[in-house]
Amino acid sequence: MSKRKFHGAIIECAQGDIADQPDMEAIVNAANASLKSGGGVTGAIHRAAGPALEQECRKLAPLFPGQAVISSAHHLPNRYVIHCLGPIYRVDEPSEQLLALCYRNALQLAEDNGIQSIAFPAISTGVFGYPPTAAAKIACMTVLDVLPHLATVHHVRFVLFSLDDLRIYEQTLDESIKNK
Ligand code: ADP
Repeated sequence: MSKRKFHGAIIECAQGDIADQPDMEAIVNAANASLKSGGGVTGAIHRAAGPALEQECRKLAPLFPGQAVISSAHHLPNRYVIHCLGPIYRVDEPSEQLLALCYRNALQLAEDNGIQSIAFPAISTGVFGYPPTAAAKIACMTVLDVLPHLATVHHVRFVLFSLDDLRIYEQTLDESIKNK
């Protein structure tokens, strides 16, 4: 786990499971349009939350790329789940703007709900095919753009499944902070 300070906020990169972040108030789901359980991130979140999450999500679907919606976290150790639909790389265009919109909308929704800490997975980098380095750049730049304008959110964590992705996010975060 690596930790950086930015405008009074903490930004971390950690290797782990997004469904196992008990110290974070909200976790972000790399959801599908119907907000149903599936593979990857969304499977892990729905398994840990229990069937009541899918039931609550029914009234929030369908999601469009770039959109974020909020639900309670049910059996997860968090208070909220913020569900984002990332773009399918080079299918949902412009992919870059839609991916940035996920982070922007999720952070705004967190702020609107008085959330202080939020953990993100690497949205769109699994079955949606986004190259991890390009996705990391968008994730880091967007968080650095938005965070200084938020009063409540002051702790952001990127949770990466693989050690390779962790290294990419750590390096990208450092470069993005340097270029700010
Ligand atoms: P998308 O459909 O948005 O591409 P995926 O769930 O397929 O989302 O994958 C997004 C990223 O999250 C991938 O890099 C994948 O390796 C990673 N991932 C998969 N399961 C987990 C998990 N339980 N916690 C954190 N990251 C995960």
